[in-house]
Amino acid sequence: MSKSRVALVRCESYDAEVVEKALARGLALLGGAAVFVRPGEPVLLKPNLLTPDPPERCVTTHPAVFQAVARLFQAAGSAVVYGDSPAVGSPASVAKKAGLEAVAAELGVTLADFVTPVEVSFPAGRQNKKFILAKAVADNTHALVNLPKMKTHGLMRATGAVKNLFGCVPGLLKAEFHVKLPNAHPFARMLVDLNLCVRPRLSIMDGVMAMQGNGPRSGTPLPVHALLISNDPVALDAVVTRLMDMDPQVPPTAQYGRESGLGTYLQEEIEILGDTVEALRPRRFKANKLAVSEKEPKGSVKFLKQWLVPRPVIARRRCTRCGTCVKMCPVSPKAVDWKAGDKSRPPVYTYDRCIRCYCCQELCPERAIKIRTPLLGRIVRRG
Ligand code: SF4
Ligand code: SF4
Repeated sequence: MSKSRVALVRCESYDAEVVEKALARGLALLGGAAVFVRPGEPVLLKPNLLTPDPPERCVTTHPAVFQAVARLFQAAGSAVVYGDSPAVGSPASVAKKAGLEAVAAELGVTLADFVTPVEVSFPAGRQNKKFILAKAVADNTHALVNLPKMKTHGLMRATGAVKNLFGCVPGLLKAEFHVKLPNAHPFARMLVDLNLCVRPRLSIMDGVMAMQGNGPRSGTPLPVHALLISNDPVALDAVVTRLMDMDPQVPPTAQYGRESGLGTYLQEEIEILGDTVEALRPRRFKANKLAVSEKEPKGSVKFLKQWLVPRPVIARRRCTRCGTCVKMCPVSPKAVDWKAGDKSRPPVYTYDRCIRCYCCQELCPERAIKIRTPLLGRIVRRG
């Protein structure tokens, strides 16, 4: 069996020339972009446009990486468009704040339709036999090139190439998946099905400045100086988790990705080209590196769930009472809400309703929500 190949290349900064050189080096190691996208074939770029944040917050794919990739395909004769469905805000407003809109306008790269929902059947899916996708993806007229950002993630531990394609599901339909699939494992199976359904040709990860800690929105930037490129999103994620000093098996997408034939996370089945993990791995990368339990608590253990499973907690002093967490909480009745409708104080949690999707933590614009394991959970874990 041939190995999956991942190009891992040092990229010292977001200087346009430096990024273009690193990208060219990485693609040359894989045999060139034409191996994955035919010259002249239309290309749809899918950056990470999670929330309206400026590039220096490291929430979104950096405009310099976006620019280098767009130019590369344009130089090969491709018409390039881009898009994502953010968790908060419209695609256009998030692209503007993230610095992508200006670059795109300069290059003549237009925003594709990531708003109109289109149902697509996927009979081969293990978890999902159909998806509602953004029209730009569902139309399947462009080669999909995935541009994830190297970040931590509360639910999936790392938000990599496989997770980034969740943005192909438009708008609030994403929240429905959290309600239907509250456990990280079926959620991961759905993400793997989604990847198999939309079939990205290539993933190019921006790990020049990564996000460690309380990701995917509230963590802290950390220079890793890496670009990762592969046509196997599972293998790319395995290499990036190793850069985070995390076991590649920890993100639940790894195991299902391999079982479903999307790719592999096993070190012996991956060939890393270019630089080594050891050369680029930061001395310390803050992340929750513990595996997510697959078992759903039952009976008395279910009752104890709220005292065992890590839960979101609001740092009251940071909270500006913007209401994003309340608005985005997908369960009904809300698990985080204003106490007696009083918006002059931070919202409060009702933990026995909370499905631990961590959308509130993911989307709080003030980094006011942390994920904390209750005392009982910490004791059990130590035991
Ligand atoms: S999203 Fe954050 S800042 Fe806004 S109300 Fe919730 S905790 Fe407060
Ligand atoms: S309170 Fe937060 S973690 Fe709990 S269900 Fe609502 S959004 Fe998800």
